[in-house]
Amino acid sequence: MSNIVNLEDVHKSFGSLSVLKGVSFQVKKGQVVAIIGRSGSGKSTALRCINRLEAIDSGLIEVCGRRVSDPAIDLRGLRRDVGIVFQSYNLFPHLTVEENITLAPRAAKGKSRAEALELARIVLRQVGLADKAQAYPEQLSGGQQQRVAIARSLAMEPQVMLFDEVTSALDPQLTGEVLKVIEELAAGGMTMVLVTHEMAFARKVADVVIFMHEGRIWETGGGDMLLNPQTAELQQFVDNGL
Ligand code: ADP
Ligand code: MG
Repeated sequence: MSNIVNLEDVHKSFGSLSVLKGVSFQVKKGQVVAIIGRSGSGKSTALRCINRLEAIDSGLIEVCGRRVSDPAIDLRGLRRDVGIVFQSYNLFPHLTVEENITLAPRAAKGKSRAEALELARIVLRQVGLADKAQAYPEQLSGGQQQRVAIARSLAMEPQVMLFDEVTSALDPQLTGEVLKVIEELAAGGMTMVLVTHEMAFARKVADVVIFMHEGRIWETGGGDMLLNPQTAELQQFVDNGL
């Protein structure tokens, strides 16, 4: 099956700080790849390079057949194909849930109001918030707001979703409902790359787990890799968390 995402020997520095030191991995259609690792190991930077929120210094990134590192890349096209959800949900506070969701499909995909509303209905059902279309963000819990942020991203009908520690700002009791939504998306065949510190979740949902350490892929394998670390660094990470 074809690769949706392909990174080959990616290097990225910020000034004199080398953050990605030759990162290579592939994500096939329908695969779930989880990236774990200590704070500062380069996980977010790797994700941000995939949809070109950061430009790389050398190497190759391809997403859905687009060469991301090409200076002439169609950024709007790339960002239609790639959805990204962050720890902070950044919903527009003065817009309803439905308005938050329909904005981008109308502006960036030229959907009619009726088409966008139908999409909003579908994605809100997917995240279990069909009854919240008319609510304002402040009327929702953190977990619900994060699910709206996921729905907003899904409304763009992306080929691949990137999740960057989307539960780390949430209280433990709200984390589960967000992870459940991601798990259902995975079960539905969505291709995704997720940075997470939820080890049990990574083990359960990911086809491939990548452990990053100091800007490199230190160890990679299936979910079971976490039960049987091959390197001292992963063993220590599994034992001590962050
Ligand atoms: P992680 O997500 O694994 O915690 P990051 O990819 O966010 O790691 O960051 C890796 C390193 O790069 C950190 O030392 C961080 O401070 C640094 N960094 C990230 N983004 C920038 C930036 N825009 N400018 C300068 N340094 C950055
Ligand atoms: Mg990060």
